[in-house]
Amino acid sequence: MINYITLLKKNDLKATIQRTNILKSIDASGHSSIDEIYENLKVLYPTLSLATIYKNIILMQQNNVIIEVPMNGEKSKYELKKDDHIHLICQGCGTIQDQEIVEKTEKILDVKEFQLKSLQINLYGLCKTCQNR
Ligand SMILES: [Zn+2]
Ligand SMILES: [Zn+2]
Repeated sequence: MINYITLLKKNDLKATIQRTNILKSIDASGHSSIDEIYENLKVLYPTLSLATIYKNIILMQQNNVIIEVPMNGEKSKYELKKDDHIHLICQGCGTIQDQEIVEKTEKILDVKEFQLKSLQINLYGLCKTCQNR
């Protein structure tokens, strides 16, 4: 299990109860939108507002704790920062699957003149379940 307190401190953020709970909620589902995090946490913490979650999400994103996954017209989802991977995003049901990058990324992309710091590859389509609908 990830230690959220260490993770926050390592990235120069104070480990507040709101932040550790937001991270726990994201981690449990893999990828969540702000609305999903809010729905998930308001049962336990009725005083926690959507604005507070939003503010903390932005801050944790700026400090490299979490990453925004754009959902192509839908609300963005967020995930904990992991090794670079590919997202298979279903436009039918909104699920995101993580897929490992097997080849060395610089080789696929052919960007020798460009110093690559981070990347995100998002593929949009239909998952197996939605294809058979
Ligand atoms: Zn689907
Ligand atoms: Zn992911």
